[in-house]
Amino acid sequence: MKAALIREVESVKKIRIEEAQLPELSSEHHVMVNIGAVGICGSDLHGFYDPKSMARIPGLIMGHEAAGVVTEVGAAVTRVKVGDRVAVDPQVICGECAQCKKGYYSVCDNKKIIGSNLKGFMNGCMAEFAVVTEKQCFLLPESLSLEEGAMVEPVSNAIHVLNRVKVNMGDTIVVIGAGTLGLCIMQAAKLTGTGRVIVTDLSEKKLALAKALGADIVIKADEDPVARILSLTDGLGADIVIEAVGIGATYKQAIAMVRKRGSIMFFGATHKEVSLELIPILHKELHLIGCTGAETECPVAIDFIASGKINVKPLISHRFTLDDTQEAFETMANPENDAVKVMLIP
Ligand SMILES: [Zn+2]
Ligand SMILES: [Zn+2]
Repeated sequence: MKAALIREVESVKKIRIEEAQLPELSSEHHVMVNIGAVGICGSDLHGFYDPKSMARIPGLIMGHEAAGVVTEVGAAVTRVKVGDRVAVDPQVICGECAQCKKGYYSVCDNKKIIGSNLKGFMNGCMAEFAVVTEKQCFLLPESLSLEEGAMVEPVSNAIHVLNRVKVNMGDTIVVIGAGTLGLCIMQAAKLTGTGRVIVTDLSEKKLALAKALGADIVIKADEDPVARILSLTDGLGADIVIEAVGIGATYKQAIAMVRKRGSIMFFGATHKEVSLELIPILHKELHLIGCTGAETECPVAIDFIASGKINVKPLISHRFTLDDTQEAFETMANPENDAVKVMLIP
């Protein structure tokens, strides 16, 4: 099969299109999926361009936001059949550890992610075919395209972020960052009954998209968003701030713009470490809530996309064939392109 692999060329990571071996169904619960669409995630971009990153290493097939058609199933598979169109949940969970037993699947002790080497090497979906377990497959309704199916992963993550915090009617929620996740989180936040959802970003184009998709207020990130949020909340600060960028500057903004006893959702992770001032966290008695992956939100995400409650089509800003994966990464990496979701069509 054709696959996009990370290769090291003169000590720089490059993407090469190669004829790779078709993966095998090594368990009777395995399913072969002919990939129809796979998105490039910010984590792919950062891992690929960071020479020191161990999350995206040479030899790996990336891709953890995917959908496709089932072409083969193991003997014990009951969830899907050949010909089914499915979204793929990239999380491989054990189902047996203490966390899984409590239903805390996103923090499974033995969790692995396909298309990543972060928790153990697992090839992903930037290829014609991928083998996943049946539990990772979620049926797509007729009305959804495979491209929309490939957005189920980011949307389910976005819903999970909102499920991790208690939202009260009338709350002011700030979403820092209008990338794919920020725009999905903004739309999920609007569904909670919150009062206002405010989005900050540097890109005017992305802010315009946020506004078109329902953000109540958008703020340019270089126009003192902390002062703007404070003035919009009578000096009190926002009830909930969701960080979807992942750098020190924006985490600092989050701490400065949240109200006393407010919540900050730690979701963005561009850098491995950020340095934050302790005193405001202590003296404002803040809730800092970490978020990683979805738990049981995939079917909800599919429902919300199918019913139009969350609109993902306008988020797909660029499309490339698998042959042009390297160009797709370069396009996404250049801020001048205002890329939101770059989709590969294998
Ligand atoms: Zn991702
Ligand atoms: Zn587990």
